[in-house]
Amino acid sequence: MTNSDTRTAAAGWSVADSAALYSLDRWGEPYFSVNGRGHISVQPQGERGGSLDLFDLVQGLQGRNLGLPLLIRFDDILDDRMERLHAAFERAIAQYGYSGRYQGVFPVKCNQQRHVVEELVARGRRWHFGLEAGSKAELLIALSLIDDPEALLICNGYKDQRYIETAILARRLGRQPVVVIEQADEVERIINATKSLGSAPFIGIRAKLSSRSTGRWGSSVGDKAKFGLSVPDLLATVESLRQADLLGDLRLLHFHIGSQINDIAVLKDALQEAGQIYVELTKLGAPMGYLDVGGGLGIDYDGSRTATAASTNYSLQNYANDVVATVRECCEPHAVALPTLVSESGRAIASHFSVLVFDVLGSSTVPGAIPAIHSDEPLTVRNLRDTLNGINNQNSDEFSESSRLQEAWNDAIKFKDDALAAFRLGYLSLSQRAMAEQLTWACAQAIVAQLPRNGPVPEDLRSLRAALAGTYYANLSIFRSAPDTWAIEQLFPVLPLQRLDEEPSQLGHFADLTCDSDGKLARFIGNGQAKPLLELHELRPGEPYLIGMFLGGAYQEVMGNLHNLFGSTNAVHIRLAPGGGYQVEHVVRGDTNADVLRAMEHNPDLLLERLRLASEAAISNGNLKISDAQRLMDHLETSLRQTTYLQG
Ligand SMILES: *Cc1c(COP(=O)(O)O)cnc(C)c1O
Repeated sequence: MTNSDTRTAAAGWSVADSAALYSLDRWGEPYFSVNGRGHISVQPQGERGGSLDLFDLVQGLQGRNLGLPLLIRFDDILDDRMERLHAAFERAIAQYGYSGRYQGVFPVKCNQQRHVVEELVARGRRWHFGLEAGSKAELLIALSLIDDPEALLICNGYKDQRYIETAILARRLGRQPVVVIEQADEVERIINATKSLGSAPFIGIRAKLSSRSTGRWGSSVGDKAKFGLSVPDLLATVESLRQADLLGDLRLLHFHIGSQINDIAVLKDALQEAGQIYVELTKLGAPMGYLDVGGGLGIDYDGSRTATAASTNYSLQNYANDVVATVRECCEPHAVALPTLVSESGRAIASHFSVLVFDVLGSSTVPGAIPAIHSDEPLTVRNLRDTLNGINNQNSDEFSESSRLQEAWNDAIKFKDDALAAFRLGYLSLSQRAMAEQLTWACAQAIVAQLPRNGPVPEDLRSLRAALAGTYYANLSIFRSAPDTWAIEQLFPVLPLQRLDEEPSQLGHFADLTCDSDGKLARFIGNGQAKPLLELHELRPGEPYLIGMFLGGAYQEVMGNLHNLFGSTNAVHIRLAPGGGYQVEHVVRGDTNADVLRAMEHNPDLLLERLRLASEAAISNGNLKISDAQRLMDHLETSLRQTTYLQG
């Protein structure tokens, strides 16, 4: 047994307790777990491959001059998620005897990073995996990266003439763009573009479903939805296409009922409605062939498997089964050929593969030190001292443990109030009042330390734990790296990467580097319910305390902003090496201070030059030594070249 094993055993805390505490065994499967050293371990290929110690990995990367905060992208996880999605649909297709295929696309808006999109396109080739674009810039990415003639290129979003013509011409490059009509007036533009170019694109229609949805993105469906055609518009569009002799190019029906569908029942309703519309479109004479069920496949962020905001009440396999079974049920009675099923699953593919790691710079906890005894202590201070001693001497068994502690806490509060009153009347000095406060906090800490871990605890005492919570200062901007925690109160799993073999003794939340009181992480996953404080360890001087934020691979990077001019973090792509260990595939350096200044139209050279002139002036009037001026300029120049975060 090593020393640390002895300590752990003595404390009665095991890594399994940590896995349960942070719900790691629920949301982390199969990629994240705790190893015997009390560190987070990553299995980037799930059960099929090796594992990496995340704490060691970060230290190895820091050794390569990749400072924190650091975004670690596990390309193997990205591949694995894509494989699981396809495997789930393949299984469902086999199980329900579906005589059609599944052919997915990645919605580029979820994560536009070059290495991410390139990886998905390269690995997805064997399934003819395609891309979905919602803007001209995304279309450009999709057109140039996809060269598989069978892969779909779904063109969503608002479209002007140039967007539509680009899609039509790309068809002549051997691509397969599908222009999805999302607004009633787009059909005219498509008809005009077709006439002027003499050829048509593949055409899709997005239906506005009236199925009710729930959750954050519930308003993506229904009569007031931003996109999609109502049934009357849909029929008018079909007529316009028929008159323009373009009905033969109508190939796809699309719907999207919002991201992160929490409740599978909502999806089933939508699928039935869309399935019937699909059948009707074929009856109206459109060849069709594709049914695109959009995004919405959710992630179980808290592992609770419930229909709540941070979770889903279905698995990936349930989702695929429902899509396949429902579409079949809609089409077969009408003898309509079963369509190729398309999904635009972004969150489900991209969430798991990136982990944001940041360090804690320090913490502020309540003053818990017990002041030394003075000979002339006033009565209130002596009373508090006696109360503290009483809490620590558990020799009475007249009471149940928690009523004994409750009584002691009532006493402590009374004596603290006495001390305050005495201070106001001038009977207590400032330092005596400080002693009273310290002793009160010490009482609270002693009580919390003795609270039974399981079993009933009086409400008063339970809230003591929260009153003792600390603020942990994070080397991070949540506006840059976790914007959805601020904007839409999204929950992500957050937990330490080390010391998971030790019972965390503190409760705390994180404050970020920005000078914005909203710049904090103060909602954490609980069992189906968010909690305001996270179990954390007391910091040890000189020892790094690394925190990981998980499941943030979708949407966070691009939604992040430059608040307080904190720029993008360093990012790395990691792959398991064939012989064990890892290899660093790509390094993407974070924004430097010069980068973020330029983004705001400042010229770093000019800023420096102005300061150089100011320091010359200060040298000549004797306020600054030449050597100090040089030091100042060195600091400024170095900062411009470095990332915007604090350096270790
Ligand atoms: C955002 C979006 C998606 C992606 O949704 P996820 O829930 O991330 O899978 C797919 N399709 C459309 C039209 C979208 O707007």
